[in-house]
Amino acid sequence: MPQFDNSYARLPDQFYSRVEPDPVPSPEIILFNTELAQMLGVSDWAERPDILTGNTLPEGAEPIAQVYAAHQFGGWVPRLGDGRAIMLGEVVTDQGRFDIQLKGAGRTPYSRNGDGRNWLGPVLREYIVSEFMAAMDVPTTRALAATATGAKVQREQAYPGGVITRVAASHIRVGTFQYFAARSDTEAVKQLVDHVRMRHFAGAVGTIGVYEAIVAAQAKLIAKWMGLGFVHGVMNTDNMAVSGETIDYGPCAFIDGYAANAVYSSIDRNGRYAFDQQSNIAGWNLAQLGSSLVLLLAEELGSQETAVEVLTQTLNAFPALFQAEWQAVFCAKLGISTPQDGDVELAQELLNLMDKERADFTNVFAGLGTQVARDEFVDRDAFDQWHAKWQTRLKDEANSAQLMAQSNPKLIPRTHRLEQAIQAAVAGDFAPAKRLARVLSTPTHLDETDTDLTRPPLAHEVVPNTFCGT
Ligand code: AMP
Ligand code: MG
Repeated sequence: MPQFDNSYARLPDQFYSRVEPDPVPSPEIILFNTELAQMLGVSDWAERPDILTGNTLPEGAEPIAQVYAAHQFGGWVPRLGDGRAIMLGEVVTDQGRFDIQLKGAGRTPYSRNGDGRNWLGPVLREYIVSEFMAAMDVPTTRALAATATGAKVQREQAYPGGVITRVAASHIRVGTFQYFAARSDTEAVKQLVDHVRMRHFAGAVGTIGVYEAIVAAQAKLIAKWMGLGFVHGVMNTDNMAVSGETIDYGPCAFIDGYAANAVYSSIDRNGRYAFDQQSNIAGWNLAQLGSSLVLLLAEELGSQETAVEVLTQTLNAFPALFQAEWQAVFCAKLGISTPQDGDVELAQELLNLMDKERADFTNVFAGLGTQVARDEFVDRDAFDQWHAKWQTRLKDEANSAQLMAQSNPKLIPRTHRLEQAIQAAVAGDFAPAKRLARVLSTPTHLDETDTDLTRPPLAHEVVPNTFCGT
């Protein structure tokens, strides 16, 4: 039995709306995360598609939709909220407290013109990608289940509907703070800060301590994304969780042939959320969060001027924090456990070579030290020169092979494979999606039978753009 204890639903009414999931005709489980279910105490839900789609409420659930605001592509939206997601509540486990949310369970007061529904494409994509991220030790929301609803969902055409059961440390976003700050509701901002401290940053002292912790968590997170060639695609402030987890897998993608400025999302026309912009944008989003905390911190510190100064100082630490995390991530990818001067340049030099030739990001790193990596380059001389330098550096390292094996996945959720799996699912064949989910749950391990999944897309398989798929 899951132990529900819904602390967010005990916050004042203005934080959310109470809602009811809209029943679906014939729920059917496609993917179920047995391990995660066990941790949450919901193993019996493996046979309960009715719970996973919202047709039946589990005992202790108090379904709500959270309200938030956002900067979307830099433009201010004063009121958004869970338009196609319904939170069942929080489950308390020996590993902490987790939100369980049904994405695609029907309309809420925040749905605007949307139908509150989801279809199998985004459902399967989020399941597979978020579980891959978890397997690579990247903070992320998790996927408990992907369920087909039996209803059609109208997008560019009619697609089979689906629900993803999402699990998160919390769903509180930068935009949640912005919503209350924009209303000058300092009391609500204070309640939110206290709530976030309780859920994520128990040791943090004062509002500034919570802000510092959020800044540090984002530095760590974005560095991890960079290490996997991950492009989130829509880093609006409503899609940045203050817990430091990756949230909202919409038009995201992993880079095949490396380009530092890669953009995939069809809605990101100006490359605001390009691969190499992600730390800058995280900083921009954190600045918005900082602004949302000014009035509260001013109350704590006695002056608005001091509050702004302290927040700015904390924000200004972000680039260096990110740089240190980036260094650690890329050193590990190169088999270097204790970074030294010159390591950043060594990593950057390889990335520059890769960028020049659009070398496959995943296969180069996974193949370093073997012919596989070398084969990715046409300019072998340039690569060999780099390789010799790298080998010299590795003489100081003891466990480089093991470190590299852990840090460089052999398999990633390549966009064309996701697309193929989604197309098959739409046609009623769930086997490719199941295969991807299974294989990508151990991405540093490659069975001989799965080598086809390491291949970058052929010309006709390239998916040039990814879509929100809402
Ligand atoms: P996103 O950029 O996908 O995170 O979505 C932005 C906002 O639009 C969020 O508040 C969503 O809840 C809402 N939204 C997206 N798709 C739908 C939909 N199909 N129905 C209702 N609301 C939606
Ligand atoms: Mg969102």
